Amino acid sequence: MNFQELARDCVRALTPYQSARRIGGYGDVWLNANEFPRAESYSLTQPLNRYPECQPPALLAAYAAYAGVRAEQLLVSRGADESIELLIRAFCEPGKDAILYCPPTYGMYGVSAETFGVTRRTVLSTKDWQLDLPAIEAALGETAPKVKVVYVCHPNNPTGNLLDHDDLRRLLRMAEDKALVVIDEAYIDFCPDMSTASWLSSFPHLVILRTLSKAFALAGLRCGFTMAYPEVIQLLLKAITPYPIPAPVADIATQALSDKYGENGLQRVKRNVAEVINNRRWLQQALSQCSCVDRVFPSEGNWLLVRFSDVARVFRALGEQGIVVRDQSKQPGLAGCLRITIGTREECERAVQVLKEVQ
Ligand SMILES: *Cc1c(COP(=O)(O)O)cnc(C)c1O
Repeated sequence: MNFQELARDCVRALTPYQSARRIGGYGDVWLNANEFPRAESYSLTQPLNRYPECQPPALLAAYAAYAGVRAEQLLVSRGADESIELLIRAFCEPGKDAILYCPPTYGMYGVSAETFGVTRRTVLSTKDWQLDLPAIEAALGETAPKVKVVYVCHPNNPTGNLLDHDDLRRLLRMAEDKALVVIDEAYIDFCPDMSTASWLSSFPHLVILRTLSKAFALAGLRCGFTMAYPEVIQLLLKAITPYPIPAPVADIATQALSDKYGENGLQRVKRNVAEVINNRRWLQQALSQCSCVDRVFPSEGNWLLVRFSDVARVFRALGEQGIVVRDQSKQPGLAGCLRITIGTREECERAVQVLKEVQ
């Protein structure tokens, strides 16, 4: 049987998302997936014999309180990644519509569009990694394929920078009556003052993505959130699977967001964030003194993007010492760059030790 022939054209042609786990590697210092380096322990409190609620009310209420939105503006999904895909399934007609995003950026926007036969329009970021608004406006004006969803990542993975708030407002104005603007805030917990969540009431076509995978230290849980105008949430709920959130996931996510040991979710995240920022500052300083380092870019997230004079050599040297980082050198404008997740202080020290030896 020729399964290649049986499969859909767009799937046969697809290069799957190269997740850190898929690429693999050998080592004991994992600085390649922007995970939090330490785990908290949780125990299950809910029975498993019943189907879970599609949208567990206690979890929605807990995250709504954390994010400062109303429960009807919120959807919980299997990670933010499921929501990226759900938005395409709910709003883009295969073979007819398009999504737009601005490389260098997170890879899943393009991969999700491709699996559904939805066109990918890309508008490269400017030299300082801001939005090229005239080019985006031109793309939004085209009718075939028609851009229905614009994804921007804020702060942007992997460049680490924030987007200018005035530019984001201009983007929202130019997309009005045309497309949804999805602001991916996967890392906003590391710079919460820069969130655009308070804009939701002014821009009904604004959609914000969040996750428990990064600052909440729960990447293995697979739990993400979408914040949007209630009517947009209702459309997404039409397209989502009947039981997207396993009962243990809802159970643990609710615990992570609620009071536990006299400390609530917000306080725990604040503690994680303070630790990451402290180690990020230390690593940035230490890297800037390594002769193999060409440039360390400032970052608002839990990683540093670093340009090396001989990136292949550095990647190999780190790998040989069991330190796994993420190669970004194939992304437009990022030749020579690796993305290094902020680990524990000890893990950061081990990476620096190796880099000091690389000539
Ligand atoms: C990690 C990440 C996600 C995915 O989050 P999950 O909730 O783990 O699916 C989404 N967007 C960006 C930019 C990310 O880096």
